[in-house]
Amino acid sequence: MAHSGSPSDSYPALNLYPKEEMMKRIKSVSTPEANGGADRPKILIIYTGGTIGMVENDVTGELEPFDFDTLVDNVPRIKRLDYDIDSFQFEVPIDSSAMTPKHWQDIAFCIDNFYDDYDGFVVLHGTDTMAYTASALSFMLENLRKPVIITGSQLPIQEVRTDGEENLITSLQIAAARDKKGRPMLNEVAILFENYLWRGNRATKYSADNFNAFKSSNFPRLAKIGMGITFRDDVLWHPQDPEPLKVHYGMDSNVMYLSLFPGITDTMMKHALSTPGLKGVVMKTYGAGNGPSDPDFLKALKEAVDRGIVIVNTSQCDNGMVDPRKYKTGSALYDTGVISGHDLTSEAAITKLMFLFGQNLPVDEVKRMMEIPLVGEMKGEAI
Ligand code: ASP
Repeated sequence: MAHSGSPSDSYPALNLYPKEEMMKRIKSVSTPEANGGADRPKILIIYTGGTIGMVENDVTGELEPFDFDTLVDNVPRIKRLDYDIDSFQFEVPIDSSAMTPKHWQDIAFCIDNFYDDYDGFVVLHGTDTMAYTASALSFMLENLRKPVIITGSQLPIQEVRTDGEENLITSLQIAAARDKKGRPMLNEVAILFENYLWRGNRATKYSADNFNAFKSSNFPRLAKIGMGITFRDDVLWHPQDPEPLKVHYGMDSNVMYLSLFPGITDTMMKHALSTPGLKGVVMKTYGAGNGPSDPDFLKALKEAVDRGIVIVNTSQCDNGMVDPRKYKTGSALYDTGVISGHDLTSEAAITKLMFLFGQNLPVDEVKRMMEIPLVGEMKGEAI
């Protein structure tokens, strides 16, 4: 695969500084006495924002992000962990609904720069777009051999009943976990939320209320978390490639979702598919990948495919996978040149398209790679 090289090649607008400048913003979270043990796990917390670090504005009553020092002051237990923990805060912590690929690049840039200095990374992030960030990072961080645990909370850390404290502490423990040979237990991007550890590119936010806010309908949890933490070695990602970490910064946003519903008109379809610059579409279909067999609808799809737009069929159902030839209606879609998204989550499908187009791959290569698992995001043999 072509690599996009250093971030400055393609993204001169990155807000972050050279490593020396970034280092000035690193703060130690451990107690001074805890520092110095040579074999103590070293963890970097990257604080991007989200509810976990929000406080209610006295005047408006709205939740707004506050800085990392205040957040840590609310978790005194963190200092009892026998780890060296540092933190790096985004210049301006944000609500994750304001996340863009640019922020993913910032997170990836931070991990890239400090990869050799830490054993694991904990990213504090809002829940709203957490699954998108987790999916995007899983593609951007090729050959990852350390844990990147993304977590946040439903209630701010200052609230008495907050879930943030538990989520943060457990994430740190997972990021620090090692196998018998002293290697990191996890070599992937994962989401930790209320005792559930999910593969990042398999997870979806499904509850705006529950502490258990994420689910992964097509892939089991990576660990059983109760009084202890038992990792499921049979489902963990085990990278085969001995190559060092390669960070791909290119992400192309010329993609979109198109969700079908009974009554969707050809005009709507044609209009959406004629969006200037559009390169890829994640089409959310019914059940096992079915859609209308109306000739005008199919014609609109075929015309878009012929113009080089990659259309990926994913299901509106969370569980199960699209099966191209199960029904006649599904078959008709594939005859137009639509490709299968198998059991991809919506978040993984759209970020994978952004990632593949971001590598400037030819359309046929994007199509080929969309149907092959790259980092455990879909069923099947990895390449
Ligand atoms: N709106 C918040 C965010 O995503 C929600 C949360 O963190 O739970 O940043």
